Amino acid sequence: MATTDAFRRPLRDLRISVTDRCNCRCVYCMPKEVFGRDHRFLERRELLSFEEIERVARTFVGLGVEKIRITGGEPLVRRNIEELIEKLARIEGLDLTLTTNASLLPLKAQALADAGLTRVTVSLDSLDDTVFRSMNDVDFPVERVLAGIDAAGAAGLPVKVNMVVKRGVNEDSVLPMAEHFRGTGHVLRFIEFMDVGATNGWRMDDVVSSKEIVAAIDAEFPLEPAEPNYRGEVARRWRYRDGAGEIGVIASVTQPFCGDCTRARLSAEGRLYTCLFAASGHDLRAVVRSGASDEELAESVRSVWGRRTDRYSDLRTAGTPDLPRVEMSYIGG
Ligand code: SAM
Repeated sequence: MATTDAFRRPLRDLRISVTDRCNCRCVYCMPKEVFGRDHRFLERRELLSFEEIERVARTFVGLGVEKIRITGGEPLVRRNIEELIEKLARIEGLDLTLTTNASLLPLKAQALADAGLTRVTVSLDSLDDTVFRSMNDVDFPVERVLAGIDAAGAAGLPVKVNMVVKRGVNEDSVLPMAEHFRGTGHVLRFIEFMDVGATNGWRMDDVVSSKEIVAAIDAEFPLEPAEPNYRGEVARRWRYRDGAGEIGVIASVTQPFCGDCTRARLSAEGRLYTCLFAASGHDLRAVVRSGASDEELAESVRSVWGRRTDRYSDLRTAGTPDLPRVEMSYIGG
């Protein structure tokens, strides 16, 4: 029996943030002025342990979750992350993936694949080294991300590449990225710059719409629409007409997909959020650490999901970016 919310949307996906720390300071996500020396990151004891995460994950799978994405912060900076992957990979029938900036992938790809990770998503916003370094704001070079992608490929992990497009910053990188990843088997996905969190200075004018992106690529490398792989898939798929693979566009701002949203999010300290744009979450860690039974834990998730009415992106207006919201680096992308 599916666990459904107030709008009958089933609970199908869980994103688990394993840390709020990251070794990048992407200007649209963790701007240095906010996430500097004085920022208070979570203490180790505040984080869910791997055993606690596994227990929560099994509870969600029992309630209908089929896909788990490990994220952060930067998930690969959490020590021995492959041990968590190994625990989760033992859960039957689960699509288990992870989103990373790839900085540690050359070191970790094989261990992650051996532990049972199904696939990986790598974030890369430009192939132009100057543009990329200025976006990640820690002088991290493109070449190291490409090495991470190669390492994942060599370890047998299918790779998707995510590029956030921000007007006036990296829109000129769209075509070179499309050209580079065409024919490689890696699926490149373009993400509209979103008003997540309250620190990235988001303005509608900075959003490059998916429509614009598809038109620019189609003019150079003709595209045709492809069917979604499953209901609720966030990316709209487009196929190169010459057979060189596909791209995806995630139009969360210009074509919101709240109606099909089946995603729950767990922060690194165990708070459950039912929307990326939520202001507050439900403290599952307290339930886990209170000695609750598995059934009691499942019941708390069921009741949070059952009350869910979130549809932030559907309701987005010029005024909504001023509402309080948790940060992407805390809740996980
Ligand atoms: N550190 C990992 C990484 O770099 O992929 C995982 C966490 S990161 C928050 C997950 C994804 O969210 C990245 O692809 C990042 O580019 C994207 N992201 C962060 N802030 C965003 C924003 N304001 N709009 C759109 N995407 C954003």
